[in-house]
Amino acid sequence: MSQRHTIAVIPGDGIGKEVMPEALRVLDTVARRHGIELAYREIEWASCDYYARHGKMMPDDWKDQLLQTDAILFGAVGWPDSVPDHISLWGSLLKFRREFDQYVNLRPARLFEGVPSPLANRQAGDIDFWIVRENTEGEYSSIGGVMFEGTDREFVLQESVFTRRGSERVLRFAFDLAQRRARRTLTVATKSNGIAISMPWWDKLAAEIGSEYPDVTWDKQHIDILSARFVLSPDRFDVVVATNLFGDILSDLGPACTGTIGLAPSANLDPERRFPSLFEPVHGSAPDIAGKGIANPIAMIWSAAMMLEFLGRGTGPEQAAHDEIIAAIEATLREGPGTGPRTRDLGGTSSTAEVGAAIAARLA
Ligand code: ATP
Ligand code: MG
Repeated sequence: MSQRHTIAVIPGDGIGKEVMPEALRVLDTVARRHGIELAYREIEWASCDYYARHGKMMPDDWKDQLLQTDAILFGAVGWPDSVPDHISLWGSLLKFRREFDQYVNLRPARLFEGVPSPLANRQAGDIDFWIVRENTEGEYSSIGGVMFEGTDREFVLQESVFTRRGSERVLRFAFDLAQRRARRTLTVATKSNGIAISMPWWDKLAAEIGSEYPDVTWDKQHIDILSARFVLSPDRFDVVVATNLFGDILSDLGPACTGTIGLAPSANLDPERRFPSLFEPVHGSAPDIAGKGIANPIAMIWSAAMMLEFLGRGTGPEQAAHDEIIAAIEATLREGPGTGPRTRDLGGTSSTAEVGAAIAARLA
C-alpha cells in the first residue's frame, strides 16, 4: 500500500538552500524503494530573499498554505547583514512554532563512529540520548516590564509561566519516548533548590506522570550538576526533559559534545498532529560558509529522516526508510577522514553535494 504525504519544503537562507537539495535527493531515493509517495510544496518565502522583494517574510496566507501539508522540512532562516534576526526569525520560524503549537523541541545527541568528540576519551556509543525541550511557555514569556527607568529606583521584572496542561503534555511525551527506548531511563531537569515555586511544582507533576510509567526509571537532577554531567558522564543519559530555558541550553550543549553542529538535527513537534510539525537542522544559515558548497548536509538529511519517522508513527515503510537513512549516515561517517567523503567541518575536503550523493548511493 502506497503512503502519500505532502511536505512543505522551505530551504530559507544561506546554506539552507545548499543542504536542502541533498535531503530531497536522499528522501527521493528511499521513498521510491519503499513505495512512499512524497508530494513537495516548494516554498520560496520564509527567507530573507523574499523579504528583500516583498518587505515581509511571508505572504498573508502562509498559514493556510502550510495547513495543507503534513510536515514542514526547513533549511535555515536569517541573513543578519541585511535583515535583523528579530524580523527574520520572529517573522517565520517562531510564528510556525507558536501558531502550530509545536510544543516539543526534540534533539538527539549522538556520537558516531568516525567522528571525534571534543570530550576526551569518548567513543561512539558513549553518547546517545535525546533532549526534549518544552517549546511554548516557561521562562520565555513576555510578561513583565521595566519601571523607573534611568532613576536609582529602576527595576525590571519578567515572569515565567507554567501551565498544568503545558507541562504535563511535554512530560508525558518524554516518558512515552523513554518507554520506547531500550534503557527506559528519563532525567527530569529541575532547579527546585533555587527556584522555589515553579520548579517544585514541575517536580511534583513529573512524579504524578511518572507514576503512570512504572517501567521507566526516572530521576530529577538540578540543572547545574546536570550540565556538568553532560560533559563528565554523558553515557548516563537516555532521555532528558527540560523546561524552555533549561532545554534551550541543554540542547546546544548536548550536540556540542558530539562533534560538529553540521550533524545535529531537530524536530519541532505537535505530537497530537493537529498541525504540521517542522523538521530542521540545529545550525543556522551560516553566512560565513554560504555559497561555497562546503556545508555538511548530514544534519539536514537526518532531520528529513526524523520527519519520515514521525509521519510513519514509528512503524511501516516510513520507519524502515528512516532506519536505512540512519544506517547510511553511520556507514558514511564510519569510513573516517582520508577515505570516506566528508565535509570540512569533519576534516575532509568533499562538497555538500558529494556527501549527499554518497549517502543516497548507499540507499539506491
Ligand atoms: P543561528 O543564529 O541560526 O542559531 P548561528 O549564526 O548562531 O545560527 P550557524 O549559522 O549555525 O550559527 O553557524 C555557526 C558556525 O557553524 C559557523 O561558523 C558555521 O559556518 C558553522 N556551521 C553551521 N552549519 C554548518 C554545516 N552544516 N556544515 C559546516 N559548518 C556549519
Ligand atoms: Mg545567527
